[in-house]
Amino acid sequence: MRVNRIIFYDEPSVPEINLDNLVEFTSKTFGITPEKRKSILTYGNEATAKHIASSRIFKLSVPYIKHVPTAEEIEFEKKSAADTSTNQNITYYDGFELQNILRDIIPKEESREDVFHVIFTNKLTCTYDYNDYRYHGRALIGANPAIISTTGIIEAPAKPRDYYVDLITNSRLGVNVDALKEKYREMFLEYHDARLPTIIEGYLLQALFYYETAEPFCDDAKCRLFNAHWQKDLLYSQMESKKLCKKHQEILQKLTMT
Ligand SMILES: [Zn+2]
Repeated sequence: MRVNRIIFYDEPSVPEINLDNLVEFTSKTFGITPEKRKSILTYGNEATAKHIASSRIFKLSVPYIKHVPTAEEIEFEKKSAADTSTNQNITYYDGFELQNILRDIIPKEESREDVFHVIFTNKLTCTYDYNDYRYHGRALIGANPAIISTTGIIEAPAKPRDYYVDLITNSRLGVNVDALKEKYREMFLEYHDARLPTIIEGYLLQALFYYETAEPFCDDAKCRLFNAHWQKDLLYSQMESKKLCKKHQEILQKLTMT
């Protein structure tokens, strides 16, 4: 493997990330025991908040333009660096810009090809897609550092269409949304969902495979590297199937042999 050291940066507002579980999972799967660190934002400097605020997206239909942040937006980022749970509303960030900004705060001596950094964040990372000319939320921004967005995991893969139809119909009738969520429980994840620790293992696999092989995803819905566009597919590949396909299992064996 090109990686011989892995560093995890926590997102403390999402305990379901469960770094201890991920350390064990990585150690078992790849034979490398990752180091655990605090949120990457705690390593930032005076300028970091401003840089992060400048990577915000306001119009989903327009490709990235560097935003000139207001004092209030910079203040928001400073607060959120000190306590990420203040990040309650969904704010959109350009995933690649955010990745560059966060890469810059990784200590230089650890900014190396053989040290793989995985940053967990509750910020919603997005990338612009020229196929439909709009930004889309992403759970994973690949390469090194890799960013895994917990908000992206909940928001990026779509919920079933019927849920939205039901939601509109029922909200007109004044029906409780919680009852509706219960009905669709098996079909999508919620914030602080008990299934998140296992789902996150899958995104970690995708991040590492992408860095090692430049191919992050698999077409087989039974494989944990499947790029799920729907919540129900995500739940299927990570919870029900919960394994790599034969091809990727073999690649993993080759990777971990050397
Ligand atoms: Zn596969």
